[in-house]
Amino acid sequence: MNEKFDAVVVGAGPAGSAAALTLARAGLKVILLERGEYPGAKNVFGGVLYRQQIEELVPDFLSEKNPPIERYIVEQRMWMMGKDSSTMLSHRNAAYSSPYNCFTGLRAKFDQWFAEKAVAAGALPVYETCAVDVIREGDRVVGVRTDREDGDIYADVVIIADGVNSLLGKAMGVHREWNPDEVSLAVKEIIMLPKEKIEDRFGVEGDEGVTVEFMGETSKGMAGMGFMYTNKESISLGIGVMVGHLREKKVKPHELLDEVKKHPSIRKLIQGGEVKEYAAHLIPEGGFHSIPPMSGSGWCITGDAAQLVNFVHREGTNLAMVSGRLAAEAVIACKAKGDFSAAAMKQYDQAIRASFVMADLKKYKGMHKLLKEQDPELLFERLPRAVNQAAYEMFLVDGATKAEKQKKAMQLIKQAAGGTMNLVKLGVKGWRSING
Ligand code: FAD
Repeated sequence: MNEKFDAVVVGAGPAGSAAALTLARAGLKVILLERGEYPGAKNVFGGVLYRQQIEELVPDFLSEKNPPIERYIVEQRMWMMGKDSSTMLSHRNAAYSSPYNCFTGLRAKFDQWFAEKAVAAGALPVYETCAVDVIREGDRVVGVRTDREDGDIYADVVIIADGVNSLLGKAMGVHREWNPDEVSLAVKEIIMLPKEKIEDRFGVEGDEGVTVEFMGETSKGMAGMGFMYTNKESISLGIGVMVGHLREKKVKPHELLDEVKKHPSIRKLIQGGEVKEYAAHLIPEGGFHSIPPMSGSGWCITGDAAQLVNFVHREGTNLAMVSGRLAAEAVIACKAKGDFSAAAMKQYDQAIRASFVMADLKKYKGMHKLLKEQDPELLFERLPRAVNQAAYEMFLVDGATKAEKQKKAMQLIKQAAGGTMNLVKLGVKGWRSING
């Protein structure tokens, strides 16, 4: 391609489309590259999208005829799983409908819709095209090499938004291959169920929806988390586990998911459903310490490619959108000055460091260390099992006094932790890990 662009955005996921939309609206000449047949064709996520960050880019999206959302979430549940038991915490609030907080969605629909906004604003879409490397002049990035014949594309700046595997990030040496403790492998099924069954089983009506996150014996002593989200006429059910632990235990993730589906707290909710889709994908979970340099001369990196995922709160799409938007705003400022040097591109680093994205990842920066260093069987097997046994004791009416029951429940938890001191130490480490 002989034409030169102001920017080439690699990847039409939430980060890339947010960047392309912001650039195109500002009148910059931008090309949006996507390796899939269409945006979202192969993309996988659990299913929760956040209103505020979408509205920052598409302010009136909820008043559209068919916004790309499945259900709006009125209730969020967290379950601690024993083998045949679960201890549940949930929060339901009518206030989540005014304004909406978050929604379930399907990537094949959402990503196409979102990329279409960028295209409507003037971005040039080029799909089924893979960027394989950057083109450099000296230390300056001046474009990308694609897998098409004569497929070199030149631009003042390359915005890398190619997701967790980030071929481009690796090719540039911005980051290395992620370590097995910096990524989780998640498997997910979409299980079709009639609308009425979903409403009955999850206690919702109309377009209301529920999220469930679960941890404990379902991940078989490995660091991991499961999820179950309601769509209009389907359930998204999945589980993600740290890759290092999967390798150590030689467990196949789809076998874990098969086990999850048999758990009594889950089986009845998906009963009679038909599996329509199965997918597997990595989730970046290295956190703050795994974030690579965010920009350089003629380039910047966004979203999953930069490890911008807050796995504690299952936030990824919103962080990707914010980083894409902030990257584009920095590029617009660089364009105005005609300066895309490393020093000028630092505006993006500054903006993202000043945003909630980096503040949140920094807050949880100790979490990755905790998960790496603690015995996963303690956190994801023995303690959840003990919590469930303790709950069972407390609710069982068997003639024992309540004081005896309380003592037994505490004993179960202390025993699981290896004694009172270990429990206290774990509590302190846990507290520190979520407080920067
Ligand atoms: P991606 O969404 O991965 O998009 C990257 C795009 O780049 C893709 O379209 C890809 O095809 C394209 N691409 C890749 N390489 C190239 C190349 N070389 N050339 C051209 N195109 C390329 N987040 C949430 O907010 N809520 C959730 O409920 C949630 N659940 C999740 C559950 C699972 C199982 C997984 C895997 C992730 C989940 N996430 C969730 C995280 C979320 O999906 C990501 O954080 C988010 O999609 C990141 O957006 P992105 O644009 O950076 O990357």
